[in-house]
Amino acid sequence: MDSQNSIFNLSLKELENFCINNSAKKFNAFQIMKWIYNAKIYDFNSMTNISKPLRECLNLNFNFKMPEIINSSRESGGEGNYSIKYLIKLNDGSAIESVFIDYGKRKTLCVSSQAGCKMLCNFCTTGNFGFQRNLTSEEIISQIILIENELKIKITNVVFMGMGEPLDNLSEVKKALEIISDANFIGIARRKITISTCGIIDKLNEIKDLKYKIAISLNASNNYLRNQIMPINKKYPIEDIVKFISDGKYFGHNKITLEYVLIKDFNDSINNAKELIKLFSPQNVKFNLIPFNKFDIENIGETVNINQKQFENNYERTNETVYNNFQDKLMKAGFVVIIRHSKAQSIYGGCGQLKGSA
Ligand code: SF4
Repeated sequence: MDSQNSIFNLSLKELENFCINNSAKKFNAFQIMKWIYNAKIYDFNSMTNISKPLRECLNLNFNFKMPEIINSSRESGGEGNYSIKYLIKLNDGSAIESVFIDYGKRKTLCVSSQAGCKMLCNFCTTGNFGFQRNLTSEEIISQIILIENELKIKITNVVFMGMGEPLDNLSEVKKALEIISDANFIGIARRKITISTCGIIDKLNEIKDLKYKIAISLNASNNYLRNQIMPINKKYPIEDIVKFISDGKYFGHNKITLEYVLIKDFNDSINNAKELIKLFSPQNVKFNLIPFNKFDIENIGETVNINQKQFENNYERTNETVYNNFQDKLMKAGFVVIIRHSKAQSIYGGCGQLKGSA
C-alpha cells in the first residue's frame, strides 16, 4: 500500500501544520504551495528555497500523483473558438468529465465536483446515472492543473457546472477554492469563478458572502413544473429561491444567474416567461436560456447504472422562434437574457450531458 499522500490534497493550513510538526517554519508551507501551484514544479528537490531536511521529509510523506486524462474530444466553434471534453480517470477507477471552452480571451474550464450526482434532475444526463462519490479537493484542483498542462494555457474562468452538485460536496469544494482563488497559487479571481447549484438554499447561505458568482439552475416558472423535473424542488421550492435572491443585499453588481433549460412544450411558453417576470427582479438576476440538449443514448458507457425510468422522458429541444420569443419577453421586462447555445454540444459536453464514460 502507498504510504504517501498526494500533496495536492493539502490545504495551506494543513501543510503549515505539517511543516511545524516537522521542525520547519510555518511560512515554508506557503513557499512549497507557491512552487507547486504558481511555478508548476512537481519535484520537491527542485524547490531551491526549501531546506534539505524538509525536502527529504516531504519526499518521504508526499507524492505528486494526479488523476489521468484518458480520452478527449474536440469540437470547433468557428472563428478560432473550440471546446474539448476530457474524460478523467480517478485513482480508484471512477471517471469524471471536464470541459474546456476557448472563447476569445476567455479560457473557461467546466469542472466536476462529484462522480455522478444525487439530485436526479430528469433532464440531465449526469442526474440519470446516479451517484458514485464526492470528489476530494485534490481531484477538483487536478482538473485545472491537468488541462492547463495538457494545453499549455492558463485557465481564466472556472464554472462548477460539470458532473455533480457542488453544494452537496461543499467542504471539499471550499477547500479546493481556497487554492484556486488565491492569487499566490492558481490565482483565478473569485469574480471569475461560478458555483452553479440546483438550489440547496441552506448551503447557498453558507457561501453567499464568499464573493463567488452564483448560478441557480431554475428550469421552471412554477412549482408544479419544477417538481416534475427537479426533485430538490420538494425540499426548496421556488419561493425559497425567490426569498434567497431578494434577501441578498450582498449581490452588488454580481447578479445571480438563473439557468433555464428550455424544453419544448414543457416550460417554454410566453405564460412561463410571464410567471418568471412576476417572480424575479431585473435588479437581482439575469437569465441564461439553454435550449435542451438531447441525451447521448447511443454512447452510454457500461461503467454506471442508468436510471432507466428517468431516461424514458422524451424531452425535445425548443425551436428557435419559440426561444427567441421567450428571450424577447424577458428582455422587454428589463432582464439581461443570454441564450446559451451550449458549447461542446456535439461532443456531448454541453449542460446536462456529462456522464463520465468514453
Ligand atoms: S442538473 Fe446538476 S444538480 Fe441536477 S442532476 Fe444534473 S448535475 Fe445534478
